[in-house]
Amino acid sequence: MITLPASTALAHIPTPLEQLNYRDDRSWPRIWIKRDDLTGSGLSGNKVRKLEFVVAHAKRSGADTLITCGGLQSNHCRATALVGARLGLKVHLILREEGGREIEGNLFIDNLAGATIETFSAQEYQANLNNLLAQRAKDYQSQGRTAHVIPTGASDEIGIWGYVKCAQELKSDFQQNAIDPDLIVCATGSGGTQAGLSLGGYAHGLSARVVGYAVCDDADYFNRKALTDITRCVDAYELAIDPQLVPITTVDDYVGPGYAVGYPELYDRIKDVASRTGLLLDPVYTGKAFHGLMCDIAAGKYSGAKDIVFVHTGGTFGLFAQKTAFGFSL
Ligand SMILES: *Cc1c(COP(=O)(O)O)cnc(C)c1O
Repeated sequence: MITLPASTALAHIPTPLEQLNYRDDRSWPRIWIKRDDLTGSGLSGNKVRKLEFVVAHAKRSGADTLITCGGLQSNHCRATALVGARLGLKVHLILREEGGREIEGNLFIDNLAGATIETFSAQEYQANLNNLLAQRAKDYQSQGRTAHVIPTGASDEIGIWGYVKCAQELKSDFQQNAIDPDLIVCATGSGGTQAGLSLGGYAHGLSARVVGYAVCDDADYFNRKALTDITRCVDAYELAIDPQLVPITTVDDYVGPGYAVGYPELYDRIKDVASRTGLLLDPVYTGKAFHGLMCDIAAGKYSGAKDIVFVHTGGTFGLFAQKTAFGFSL
């Protein structure tokens, strides 16, 4: 057992665990969806679970300003902007330019929420991100404010508690449904959801293996990133756990051309799932991960599995930013 650190209530949790009737095929495992797309309305998806712990930490250290970063359509930045608006904290976003400059999807909500927004070319962002974050924190300090810098995706030793807690929630979902799933799958983009679920699954004795489906980078990168987050968490909170014993598994076969860049099978999958089940997936995260999971089940990778849980981490606003890729017209 592990004791959770202090958190600020922000997410509508516990979220439902629902069976998805997608493949009418008896040879298939049952697919269950952990509806973390329902953690809120605007403030939806996986980042709000992480921010519950990050914000509690930031407030305790006297912060009145949150600085964070991500792509132009970052769900994490949108969630942080809304959390700040809700709690009366100033939010400063450092965004990486990608695709068009249209004020759309998550970026539209960042604006509605009144966040201060700065954008940088992908090159400049990549080369200078840490300096930029540190410099903005210093700027606020010289104005008499106290800023807390949240790393990409709130994936650090504090943020991953959100998914340690979710693993605990899943344990009781499984008891209520009298299931003992073989697999828990999530999209992995900055690694914190995967790290938290892996640590939480291990700490709570779940028999399910946690598998992260990468949406960028590669399996090696996420295996190392998750281990780093877990090790830092174990050290910072003095947990009686050996990080090396926590199983970490990443699949990187469905990234496609790169982060936030789709491919035809992905858009077909999103449309197929929406039209046959009513479930909305997004092209950046959940669509790639779910598509990968379906392909891997079909290929026999998880043969023998009876129940598989897919953690729906949200991202619905990102769907709007890529609407033209679907080619609909009147
Ligand atoms: C950020 C995000 C992820 C990935 O979670 P990480 O903890 O960053 O790996 C998955 N799905 C959605 C919708 C996200 O916004």
